[in-house]
Amino acid sequence: MKHYELAINFYKQKGPRHDKALWAIRQKRDKAIKEVDEWEELREKASKIKDEVINNLQDYVKEFIKNAKKEGIELFFAKDAKEHNEIVFDLLKEINAKKVVKSKSMLTEECGLNEFLEKRGIEVIDTDLGERIVQLRGEKPSHIVLPAIHTTKEEVAEILGESNTDPTYLTHKMRELLRNEFLSADAGISGANFLVADKGWAVVCTNEGNADLGAVLPKLHIISVGVEKIVPSMRDLGVFLRMLARNATGQKITTYTSIFGRKENGKRVIVLVDNGRFERLNTEFKETLKCIRCSACLTTCPVFRRSGGHAYRYVIPGPIGSLLAPLNNKEEYSDLPFACTLCNSCEMVCPVKIPFSKQLVKMREYVTKDDFAFKFIETSLHSPFAFKLFSKIIRLTPKSILKKALNEWSKYKEFPTIPPKRFIDG
Ligand code: SF4
Repeated sequence: MKHYELAINFYKQKGPRHDKALWAIRQKRDKAIKEVDEWEELREKASKIKDEVINNLQDYVKEFIKNAKKEGIELFFAKDAKEHNEIVFDLLKEINAKKVVKSKSMLTEECGLNEFLEKRGIEVIDTDLGERIVQLRGEKPSHIVLPAIHTTKEEVAEILGESNTDPTYLTHKMRELLRNEFLSADAGISGANFLVADKGWAVVCTNEGNADLGAVLPKLHIISVGVEKIVPSMRDLGVFLRMLARNATGQKITTYTSIFGRKENGKRVIVLVDNGRFERLNTEFKETLKCIRCSACLTTCPVFRRSGGHAYRYVIPGPIGSLLAPLNNKEEYSDLPFACTLCNSCEMVCPVKIPFSKQLVKMREYVTKDDFAFKFIETSLHSPFAFKLFSKIIRLTPKSILKKALNEWSKYKEFPTIPPKRFIDG
């Protein structure tokens, strides 16, 4: 199903509640950023730091690898999702792991790691509260920071087999269940929000401390992370830490901001993943690599708020997902850049200043480049003769046929009435 069909279904069931919940977060975020007088300067700095990194990515990757090795961290480089999953599986096989605890990582979602490991007999327990809820419901996250924002407290109570729907009670219940999983896991897997090149450290930000337990309790801690997460130094890290939580949820800072170097009680491994990122550097969409996954563009988007994240069908939904998904699979996700009103709200809130409006328009060109209908329209608009002929054909075709053949959108909207004569013909 396409985005608009899934969006309509979602809106009928949960749209207004979802919209209201996300709008409240957007307002909290607006209040939090007003407390920082130099917010716009920070955005400018963050954007420049990210430009510097993506323009010299190869060098920063080398510097990070050199310093992480000095720290005593084992490193692997995976060119794609398959290689990433195989590396992680081999590491787990070495210690005969049967169960892993995983904290939220969009990269492991991108690589389909859970399914890969589970097929090979390794149980994966997602430990972020929202992630665990969607895992137990057999769903995918619908938001990159609030993975279960589409679920109600009644639905959460139901999967836990509880009649009490009080959110605090349910959170404590989940905490109890997860504590046992942490204690019996053979390894922990997490993502990383940032990698500090000049130190070789990985930085993980969470609100629940689950990544920290997964990193510390088991003997093996694997960090799966995309190469674009590098920042040059601790000084640069400070810029992003001041922005990330404020821009995401309106908090001053994430509750736990942990910096991981050498692991004292076992082995820490970082798997750096390319999966098309280096190739993207040579495209007009390279600025998408600046994204720090704060999620503000999702939360503010009027389409996302009403359609829910699952309508995008891709691991990263919302405005940034509408740029990333077609780069991953142009045919499958060609509708996403059109699931947008170009209102520009995403660009206004993005802490690294990704030029969304321009990028989304470019993406529309990219996905329709080989589309017959768009080629036909382009040719008609370039030739007065073809244009005349085309408008004549349109006028002679019954509206019901036009509606069916040309405009799926008109299932839900009134198809415009075509005037009997062209303007130029009086
Ligand atoms: S594109 Fe910008 S606003 Fe959206 S998640 Fe990434 S950093 Fe945040």
